[in-house]
Amino acid sequence: MLPYRTIHEAERALGRILTYTETLWFNYSANKSNFFIYCHTILLLFLIFSLAPLPFVVVELMRLRSLEKFKIQPVVRLSPGDMCKCYKDVMLLFCYVVGPLQILSYPSIQMVGIRMGLPLPSGWEIVMQLLVYFLIEDYTNYWIHRFLHGKWGYENIHHVHHEYTAPIAFASPYAHWAEILILGIPSFLGPAIAPCHILTFWLWIALRQMEALETHSGYDFPWSVSKYIPFYGGAVHHDYHHYVGGQSHNNFASVFTYCDYIYGTDKFPGLAIYQLKQLRKDDGQLEAVPSQASSKSD
Ligand SMILES: [Zn+2]
Ligand SMILES: [Zn+2]
Repeated sequence: MLPYRTIHEAERALGRILTYTETLWFNYSANKSNFFIYCHTILLLFLIFSLAPLPFVVVELMRLRSLEKFKIQPVVRLSPGDMCKCYKDVMLLFCYVVGPLQILSYPSIQMVGIRMGLPLPSGWEIVMQLLVYFLIEDYTNYWIHRFLHGKWGYENIHHVHHEYTAPIAFASPYAHWAEILILGIPSFLGPAIAPCHILTFWLWIALRQMEALETHSGYDFPWSVSKYIPFYGGAVHHDYHHYVGGQSHNNFASVFTYCDYIYGTDKFPGLAIYQLKQLRKDDGQLEAVPSQASSKSD
């Protein structure tokens, strides 16, 4: 809830006229409690989990010939029933873990100082904070993911996420409940270290989830904006990690590939494409397996 009763009062406190966006934010949030505002995070996640994968699902189900060449593991096909089951499992997880976790996180949001009032952050502040969040999340997620590929971590927790050896967008948040809790830490660490406005927080969550959906989409589209971001892992990088499955000791990165590169766990995306395409069916024939093979272990 904003500490101003009118826009005029807010402008007097800030010493300037509110911007158009600030006026919108004032009109929407002035009389709502901070807890209620924060709970919009649950709605945001629900919409992302439900709607953002749909374009990939349509492409998968329609099997348009022009787009088929971009499918990373073409011989693995999921039926509409399989897709619905995946979404249902994710929604159960959402109701029992993701949603309650957001509500229980409210005190920590207050504690670290996520603000909900005025002024709104500048574009520059938003960009810099998002960059910091991505870097922090990427580094910590790398090590947690790598730990989850140890014997105990994989057998007790991470194997659930790897049930999809050829991932689909709906399967991005599909994981053991404990993994949802554990991997919430890297996502929250950035905002905890460099607190932001709730709008930046929502943008961070939306971008991170959309990135994860695209990474699990099973398609490597050449027009993806992620192709233009330096060191970005993308769909092939992570698809290969799922393809290898429990034995995988490569491609742990969630967003960027620098940790895999620094710590020697990278599998060249080009090579990964090369190997995954060995699975490609061409008029009923398996594509010829090229002679050069990776000398690296998975
Ligand atoms: Zn993994
Ligand atoms: Zn995954």
